[in-house]
Amino acid sequence: MAKKSDSVCKLCRRENMKLFLKAERCFTDKCAFERRPYPPGQHGQSRLKFSEYALQLREKQKLRRYYHLEENTFRHIFEIASKSTGNTGEVLLRLLETRLDNVVYLMGGACSRKNSRQMISHGHVLVNGKRITLPGYFVKPGDVVSVTESAKQLVPVQMGINSAKRRELPGWLEVNFDKVEAVIKELPSRANINTPVEERLVVEFYSR
Ligand code: SF4
Repeated sequence: MAKKSDSVCKLCRRENMKLFLKAERCFTDKCAFERRPYPPGQHGQSRLKFSEYALQLREKQKLRRYYHLEENTFRHIFEIASKSTGNTGEVLLRLLETRLDNVVYLMGGACSRKNSRQMISHGHVLVNGKRITLPGYFVKPGDVVSVTESAKQLVPVQMGINSAKRRELPGWLEVNFDKVEAVIKELPSRANINTPVEERLVVEFYSR
């Protein structure tokens, strides 16, 4: 029987990539994807041929799970992207990257994107010194994101900092780990978004 702690790890195995949903554990040899890098289930190790639709669906699910979003929220962000000027896939990624919950996670203010949303909704996160409790708030160039003084000692924040130091930081963020603070230098372009996804397939999925 699978351990409870393995349950979110199945998402990584399903999407064939590390989604980093468990903070420290993701960097250890306990990582389920490192131990079993194939989809869960009876046919996990079979070579399956996917239809075009299945490929688009998988890529959409992968991106949604990477940012740990519900379908309704993800779809809403896609609709904003599709009505914006520019390449829809790139705008979609930019919107996902600049959500406050993602920025707090990237700068080490939380140990996962899920935890980041809790930190924000519990009032531990500031933008330009003002408390913001909306995880879906979009940051803009010049914004300074930080956590409250009391939150800096929280275990998830300490774990988040340790994990963030081990990841490659995107060039559009300037992070000060001592202050648990990030400055948004610019809006990210596709070239400095590290998300391993073929966004074209996601756009095709919703354009069917
Ligand atoms: Fe689990 Fe993290 Fe490894 Fe994913 S990357 S399988 S969440 S330990």
